[in-house]
Parts: sequence; C-alpha cells; structure tokens
Amino acid sequence: MGLVDSAIVRLLPAVPRPVVRRISERYIAGEQLDDALRVVRELNDEGKLATLDVLGEEITNPEEARAIATAYREAIDAFEREQLDSNISVKPTALGLKLGYDLFRENLEGVVRHAAARGNFVRIDMEDSSTTDDTLRLYRDLRAAGHENLGVVLQARLKRTIADVRELAELRPNVRLCKGIYVEPPEIAYRDFDSVRASFVQALEELLEAGSYVGIATHDEWLTEQGERLVTSRGLGPQEYEFQMLLGVRASLGDQLVRAGHRLRIYTPFGRQWYAYSMRRLQENPKIAGYIAADTVGRLLPGRNGSS
Ligand SMILES: Cc1cc2nc3c(=O)[nH]c(=O)nc-3n(C[C@H](O)[C@H](O)[C@H](O)COP(=O)(O)OP(=O)(O)OC[C@H]3O[C@@H](n4cnc5c(N)ncnc54)[C@H](O)[C@@H]3O)c2cc1C
Repeated sequence: MGLVDSAIVRLLPAVPRPVVRRISERYIAGEQLDDALRVVRELNDEGKLATLDVLGEEITNPEEARAIATAYREAIDAFEREQLDSNISVKPTALGLKLGYDLFRENLEGVVRHAAARGNFVRIDMEDSSTTDDTLRLYRDLRAAGHENLGVVLQARLKRTIADVRELAELRPNVRLCKGIYVEPPEIAYRDFDSVRASFVQALEELLEAGSYVGIATHDEWLTEQGERLVTSRGLGPQEYEFQMLLGVRASLGDQLVRAGHRLRIYTPFGRQWYAYSMRRLQENPKIAGYIAADTVGRLLPGRNGSS
C-alpha cells in the first residue's frame, strides 16, 4: 500500500458515512434478505457457492442477538425454498458472545439445529483474539454434543494457529483458513507479510494431512497457487476442499478458479449494519485513495456520477 493510501486508511474514520457507503457498495449485497438472495442467485448462476453473513456486530442486548439468530434461520429457510446453494457465516459477537458464553451457545446451537434439519451448514467466523478461546470452546462443545454441520475459522496471522490446528486435528474439523483481518499485538501475531503467508501454507498442509475439509479463503494469488498445488499433490477431488473469496474482491481471480474446476464460495454480507464491515474492507483495499478521490471529485463536479 502506498504512502497516500496508508494516510487515507488512518483518516478513514473521519470520512463521512455516505461516502463510505457509496464506495463500499461493492462489498455488500444490500440491506434486506431479498437483496442478498438476488446476489446469491447470480453467484450460483455463475457456478459459485455463497455463504451469507447477516451484518450485526454492535450488539448491545440479548434481544438483538436473538434477532440476528432469527434472521439466520429465515435465510436458511429461504435457501431451501428458493433452492439456492449457500450456507451461513455467523459472528460470535453478533450472536451475543460479549454478553455471555451461554447466550452465544443458546443462539448458535439453535441456528445449527435449524440448519441441520434442512441439510445446511454453519461457519463460525473468527473475530479478534479476545474471542478465539471462547469460539473454539463452543465449536468443541457443539461437536461433542453431536453437531457435525458446523465449521470454524483459523487465522494464519496468529502465532497460536499451528497449535490450534494440531489440537483440533482429532476432530477432522471443517476449517476456513484465512490470513486474519484484526490488528493484533506482535507478541501473539505475525506482522510481516511473508511470515503470515508461511504460516498459512503450513496450516493448510497440516489441515489437509489431518483429513480436514478446508475453505482456502484468500485473494492472494500466490496463496491460491499454493492451495492448488497442495490439493493437486494430494489427489483431492473438487468436493474435498473449496476456495473462498469476499463479495466484490478480485472477482476475476475467482472466475479463473471456477474455470479451473475448483469450488468457489463467495462470502456475501447483507444487512443494515454495514459500517464496521465496510471499514474493514476499505482498509484492505490497495486503491482506497483513488476511490475516495473519485467519489470526492464526483461530488464536487456537477453532473458526474449523477451525484451532484
Ligand atoms: C471468504 C473469506 C472469509 C473471511 N473470514 C474471516 C474471518 O472469519 N476472520 C478474519 O479475521 N478474517 C476473515 N477474512 C479476511 C482475511 O483474513 C483477510 O483479511 C483478507 O482476505 C485479505 O487477505 P488476503 O488473503 O486476501 O491477502 P491480501 O494480501 O490482503 O490481499 C491480496 C490481494 O487481494 C486484493 N484485495 C484484498 N482485499 C481487498 C479489498 N478489500 N478490496 C480490494 N482488493 C482487495 C488486493 O489486490 C491484494 O493485493 C476472510 C476472508 C475471506 C476471503
């Protein structure tokens, strides 16, 4: 990321919400379930799978967390009704983790049961490191309770991840492997690009070795190549792993993977609480300065972008 871009990233919180909204539209499927279903259908028509995220991270009371759980159940019903190929991704804090482990468990288990009854699958997203222990604990608890239709996420950025892979190996966990978006202290996380990549490749090798189904979640072309190399060298068929990408990011790389015969799942967020998610995506966008400049110019010059 260039100097101008990193300066813009630091200033992002000062960018007015309507501007953030406009330039982050590509990352969000819309505010309503119907918007998201339309996007999932388009993805399915392009030969891609989806995983739906109901945006809602600023939960302040149990009712909000229960409402998010209900929204997920409604999404699962809609997939069945409309024959869409999508599962769901849930954030622990959106289901109430910060309000208590028991509330998180009650909400997640309800959603997992609902999904199981309809042949669907639940991915527990991984948030910042303050939530890692509780998230993995609930994953283990639910597996011990007999639930098989759920998976977790491991973040290559965290130094603990290889140990977590080894501890989980006996469960042959279904894992989404990603770099990890949250900025963590250097004592617990790799800060340099190459160490994160090396940790990703090692975790992927060990997960595949353990017989795990892995969602290889990255837009880093070098890592997708490593992923292709590792699954091919093990002779895995396309049903035994998948690639995953975020809506609105490097779609052409995704198309390339689909053409090569891999399964590709697109993380598809929707909902009214779009701000926190959008900020994270914009902070990762290498062309952020250009987008903000274009939007600003668009508003200053009458008639451009229809936004004067
Ligand atoms: C399906 C999926 C689910 C995820 N779930 C989680 C999760 O549960 N927990 C978690 O901590 N993180 C999650 N992430 C985020 C992930 O950890 C990374 O922060 C993110 O994917 C960027 O890392 P990268 O591997 O794409 O590599 P990078 O090196 O960051 O990106 C590679 C290239 O992709 C392009 N790119 C990346 N991001 C953007 C963007 N926003 N806009 C435009 N171009 C971009 C750029 O060209 C960049 O050079 C998920 C990512 C994916 C794909």
